[in-house]
Amino acid sequence: MRNLVLSFFLILSLSAKSQTKTSSKIISLMGSRFELLALASDENIREKAIEDAIEEIARIENIISSWKPDSETALINSNAGIKPIKVSTELFNLIERSLKVSKLTNGAFDISFSSIDKFWTFDGHQMAMPDSAMIQATFSKINYKNIVLNRIDQTVFLRKKGMKIGFGAIGKGYAANRAKKIMTKQGIISGMINAGGDLIAWGSQEQGNPWQIGIADPSKQKDYIAWLDIVNMSVVTSGNYEKFVIIEGKKYGHIINPKTGYPVEGIQSVTIVSPDAELSDALSTSVFVLGITEGLELVNKLKNVECLIIDNKNKIWTSDKLNLNYYD
Ligand code: ADP
Ligand code: MG
Repeated sequence: MRNLVLSFFLILSLSAKSQTKTSSKIISLMGSRFELLALASDENIREKAIEDAIEEIARIENIISSWKPDSETALINSNAGIKPIKVSTELFNLIERSLKVSKLTNGAFDISFSSIDKFWTFDGHQMAMPDSAMIQATFSKINYKNIVLNRIDQTVFLRKKGMKIGFGAIGKGYAANRAKKIMTKQGIISGMINAGGDLIAWGSQEQGNPWQIGIADPSKQKDYIAWLDIVNMSVVTSGNYEKFVIIEGKKYGHIINPKTGYPVEGIQSVTIVSPDAELSDALSTSVFVLGITEGLELVNKLKNVECLIIDNKNKIWTSDKLNLNYYD
């Protein structure tokens, strides 16, 4: 099922002989499958860089996961409507950047979407629609403008009781950026991190070819319909093919429209290409909410950001400057 609409594959052209310069590891982190790949001639350097990157991702997870009761994020949430909480510079900055994306997208991206997440479980277990009166009552708590930052005291305050923030739409991108930084610092001049579909690649493949991302054919007639050559770029896909629930025959995906409290409909996947995995992550979710017209309009205005959308009818929409290579 998963591959049906999974829109991107990394096309690796490693020959058996040349694998000697590459190390890779697959590991479960942040509730996702992470794949880390490092190219360097020294095996010890490669292995150490991957280990340190994994440690870094686990460290980030401990700060941003709202379900870990002693995380900084959980503390902010449990003090919603009560008091501001002093946080690390790192988390403060991440929240500040999240709010910037909210402004840029007119609130389509909103980390306070989380106020409503208790009504939706996208693991297939939910049987009935949540009570609409409860959704109405709760979704008024979603509003990024009620996330109050105080830079001098370095505090975060959620103005309303019951408000909650979550980094599900930006955290993996941030972690991928950080992991890349750790690896490049240690001399990994080429590498790739795939954080559960949030991919960042730098340098080139072992034989010098650029990294290639294949775009799966949504109608399944071919494996790929096109590919992208990427050099120092992130490619991040948001889709409703992994986390969704079917209620009375209708599919609901895990991206919430902050203006309604209900999952967004109409799109299968949004892929953003930009040099920054965190931005790509946040924008892929944003475009999903904004929809095809508004989403493409936004992306076309942004420098160095491109986008590919697959709608529910398998139609592909792309931003003006997306450089796709076609097979025929
Ligand atoms: P994926 O997890 O498939 O990579 P996304 O990056 O789009 O997809 O993240 C989806 C997650 O983002 C949801 O599971 C939820 O935690 C969070 N989320 C849902 N709707 C919004 C929204 N409107 N703004 C910010 N975060 C959201
Ligand atoms: Mg995202």
